[in-house]
Amino acid sequence: MDLHWLSIDEASRRLDAREISSRELTKAVLDRIEAVDGRVGAYLSLAAESALESADAADKRRSDGERGSLLGIPVALKDVLSKRGLPTTCGSRMLESYVPPYDATVVELLDRAGAVVLGKTNMDEFAMGSSTENSAYHPTHNPWDLERVPGGSSGGSAAAVAAGEATFALGSDTGGSIRQPAALCGVVGMKPTYGRVSRFGLVAFASSLDQIGPFTRTVRDTATVLNAICGHDKRDSTSAPVDVPDFTVGLDRGVQGLRIGVPREYMPSSLDAGVRAKVEAALSAFESQGAIIERDVPLPSTEAALAVYYIIAPSEASANLARYDGVKYGFSYTQGKTMWENMEMTRGQGFGAEVKRRIMIGTYALSSGYYDAYYLKAQKVRTVIRNEFDAAFEKYDVLVSPVTPTPAFKIGEKANDPYAMYLNDVFTLPVNIAGLPGISVPAGLVDGLPVGLQVIGKPFDEEAVLRVASAFEAASGWQDQHPPL
Ligand code: GLN
Repeated sequence: MDLHWLSIDEASRRLDAREISSRELTKAVLDRIEAVDGRVGAYLSLAAESALESADAADKRRSDGERGSLLGIPVALKDVLSKRGLPTTCGSRMLESYVPPYDATVVELLDRAGAVVLGKTNMDEFAMGSSTENSAYHPTHNPWDLERVPGGSSGGSAAAVAAGEATFALGSDTGGSIRQPAALCGVVGMKPTYGRVSRFGLVAFASSLDQIGPFTRTVRDTATVLNAICGHDKRDSTSAPVDVPDFTVGLDRGVQGLRIGVPREYMPSSLDAGVRAKVEAALSAFESQGAIIERDVPLPSTEAALAVYYIIAPSEASANLARYDGVKYGFSYTQGKTMWENMEMTRGQGFGAEVKRRIMIGTYALSSGYYDAYYLKAQKVRTVIRNEFDAAFEKYDVLVSPVTPTPAFKIGEKANDPYAMYLNDVFTLPVNIAGLPGISVPAGLVDGLPVGLQVIGKPFDEEAVLRVASAFEAASGWQDQHPPL
């Protein structure tokens, strides 16, 4: 098999056996990027030279006797994660020339594990979007059909892993930005429980929802990456001081006797028939493996989730993005007559349309007189949504659902219709609102395009999510399906 298609698991086995070196592996992936990224557009910036240096360092560590599942494995980082010395644009003109002077905790952890950073991947500006079309630089194309979107906002990371342009990648998920692009690109993508992974060094979008997670080509690889990046960090006060198990143990336990619920509201009559058929096939597979399936699990406030998200996320974003004033970071307009004029021009020119829309919505929802009606109300409904999940998890070990209502749409199709774009995330947003772990596993092709199965778990029960995902992966026969690039 071409080296650029190796899973983390297989690559590290071959590295241990000295059948390949990290330099060879890294070179193979860089060659693949060279060959296909002109068409895919997954990357915003490459760090080829430093990647090869890291690969050599990893090879040296291995020959000195060190072992480790990520030692020498090439990774792509969503351009919202800070790595010292590399540009971190967040897909925005505002941060076009920003180079962070420090590493995000996840980057530090990957570095310690010996992973090889290839570069930074494309994304919707400040992670606001579901198609990567909101990038200020260029769109990313879905490797399965170049005329379609890869999903978003972590579309570059998903496309890179799907196209063999990285062995794995990291992204961030505020309302679905890992799971949705993973589904549309046919790779595994997981959002861990809120608090599982430190967000120190992740540029903030909506702080009560943001979480970092992996994109991989197998469920086992996702478990391996979680082992490296999870854990308490005193530099992120929301990171939880809970033990981190070895997530690769128990992956093969199967679903015998597990109680799997299917939320009624996640299988609406409007669901794409092809997507529905894939979820039904998954349920039959679980059933034949001895799981107890219960349909029609009520999560009645699901219909309010979109509204809740589009109050809370923009409100938090309006506060988080106040720091881009032309003084502290990045782009700065200086020709104005007053400080206010400079600030206005900096923000007017530095931000794209979707980011401005979010800032306006958020500022409005937080303004005096409207705060109670919008923000406070949204927080109350958020609690109701959380309680409904809690009640469901008293009866079920996990919940399963589609990830997206349809397969990937065409580039440009929804670009001018924000509401149609927002609707893409109806099945993923509630999971962030409740702070739960959720994964997207490839569920097969619908008209030649990948769709995903979502598995949602109890807080900090990533193990059950991974176990169910792994059982489904084994039954689905998806392994090693690659786009015809
Ligand atoms: N698509 C959603 C939004 O635009 C979610 C984005 C995300 O998870 N970062 O806000």
